[in-house]
Amino acid sequence: MADGLEGPAVAWDRAADIVVIGAGATGLPAAIVAREAGCSVIVVEAEADIGGHAITSGGNVPLGGGTSVQQQYGIEDSPDLLFRDLTDWSVVGPNGFPDYRYNDREIIRAFADNSAPAFEWLLAHRVVFVDKAPDAVGGNSVGNSVPREMHCMVGDWPTVQTGKPAEPAVQKTRSSGNGLMRPLEVAARKAGVEILLEHRMTAIHRQRPNGGPVLGIAVDHKGARLSIRAHKAVIIGTGGSTGNVNFRRMFDPRLTEEYCGLAGMPWSDQDASGELAAMAVGASLWGFFNQTGEFGANVTKPGSIGCQYNYRNLQWMPGSRVFERARACGLKVANWQNLILVNMLGRRFYDETGGQYIANNHNSIEPYVQGSYLNAKNAKFNPSNFLNAALAGIDDGHNGGGPIWAIFDSDAVEREGWQPTPPHVDIAAGFFFSANRLADLAEKIVMKYQRIAMPPPALQETVARYNSFVDAGVDADFGKPAPLYKIARPPFYAAWATPVVHDTRAGLRINGKCQVIDLNGEIIAGLYCGGESAGGFSQHGLARAACQGYIAGRVAAAAPPLDAALD
Ligand SMILES: Cc1cc2nc3c(=O)[nH]c(=O)nc-3n(C[C@H](O)[C@H](O)[C@H](O)COP(=O)(O)OP(=O)(O)OC[C@H]3O[C@@H](n4cnc5c(N)ncnc54)[C@H](O)[C@@H]3O)c2cc1C
Repeated sequence: MADGLEGPAVAWDRAADIVVIGAGATGLPAAIVAREAGCSVIVVEAEADIGGHAITSGGNVPLGGGTSVQQQYGIEDSPDLLFRDLTDWSVVGPNGFPDYRYNDREIIRAFADNSAPAFEWLLAHRVVFVDKAPDAVGGNSVGNSVPREMHCMVGDWPTVQTGKPAEPAVQKTRSSGNGLMRPLEVAARKAGVEILLEHRMTAIHRQRPNGGPVLGIAVDHKGARLSIRAHKAVIIGTGGSTGNVNFRRMFDPRLTEEYCGLAGMPWSDQDASGELAAMAVGASLWGFFNQTGEFGANVTKPGSIGCQYNYRNLQWMPGSRVFERARACGLKVANWQNLILVNMLGRRFYDETGGQYIANNHNSIEPYVQGSYLNAKNAKFNPSNFLNAALAGIDDGHNGGGPIWAIFDSDAVEREGWQPTPPHVDIAAGFFFSANRLADLAEKIVMKYQRIAMPPPALQETVARYNSFVDAGVDADFGKPAPLYKIARPPFYAAWATPVVHDTRAGLRINGKCQVIDLNGEIIAGLYCGGESAGGFSQHGLARAACQGYIAGRVAAAAPPLDAALD
């Protein structure tokens, strides 16, 4: 096949009008829209199944701006209201951080204008939402004025978490990303989108490293290298960068290797491959504050302990296709009174019941008047610094907070109803330890990320001091509300409870049409991006990804062939 590159010729193995990278919340909508507009479309997906983080997700989708369901329930929303909500400088959290202040206005305007059409498009492609009024459950940074959150019905597909369908009783009422991504997969295949699984994009071809249009991509398929020509567009939907340690540390130096429990892993990674490939052909990054701002779910408190993948809304069960890689499902914590959390040195660092950052959603501010200075003025400063304390480190000149361990006893196991054995906990890889004496427990904690041995006397002292707080009814160190339970009855346990990295809210610079922009502010012809790999939009998740996929697919399909842009 012919080659438009300057330099060594590329032998193109495959070609399509539009090449989409990633079969997730951005990629599948983009692919379907472009295919239905008459383009040939190839989707390359690195993993063995479609879905990305979207299929592991809770399926809560905040598309608003006047959807048919909002109208049905008498909720008055409009693109203008949505736009002003998502750019409202006056919305701040209890830690003083603003959710929306640094959003790119052009990107938000495009989202506001396309939000309701994208929702109707999902309905038309057989995504079924739980039959109830939009609410405020499960999203974050979605705007304060009106409820916008809709919930994808889990249906009867096997879930990726268990390998089995949900119980019949909840199939129509439970929300899950399964209910978003499986219908879209069906729609994509029906429309004639070609999906190449286990095809990992490794590079983007551009006419010149910093000039001319993009021409296609390089792909690794089980060790073999393929080149795929794109006649009209390459659309990046690779899902973000928080799984890439060096990349994420550009935003936050504290996020070192021990934060190894990325939410959504091991189903799919967020390895920054889309960002890096685009940057290698001149693309710019955008909206850095949205990654470092302390709101939402960029870093989260774990929900389960004793396993590597411990995001609070995701447990991998035996039966899941990826359970072998997840290795354990973890012990879900119902009550943080049942344990203490200590750092590598065996010292407590914060009230264990403390929460993570929060984010703005419908009714978070009451009363709320868009753009009023009173919103910020009336906010009560009441930060939760649990995560900051956990990530602070141990004053030895190293970055990163190191492993955080939940320490508890057999009474706690009984109260929580835990089973401290595999497959619930991961003993083999060093994410769970037990011993009959606290000193022995500290000595046993040997694993990849525990770079300093926990001093046994330190753990003994910490537990003794905590037990004295239980007697006194007051936590003199961290103000934990009425510490309830002593840690006294062996065996004793240490379970991995390190914070979890999650959202990417900064990424490639795009414009309102999802075209990728270079460091000179110029459009890179033929290159598009959406979802977590795109920057400029502070919001968790599915809505911005699906909406930007919808926009990118439409704009790319209407664009002239890239050959015309070769210079
Ligand atoms: C447990 C969990 C719960 C969540 N719950 C919600 C929720 O309820 N509501 C909400 O709004 N959001 C939720 N989210 C967030 C939401 O799932 C993501 O924001 C969304 O899926 C991002 O869409 P995306 O297209 O950017 O990435 P993804 O959906 O992750 O898709 C990216 C795809 O690209 C593939 N890929 C990556 N690199 C390459 C490469 N080099 N070559 C080929 N393919 C590649 C990946 O394998 C993946 O399939 C949740 C996330 C998780 C993990």
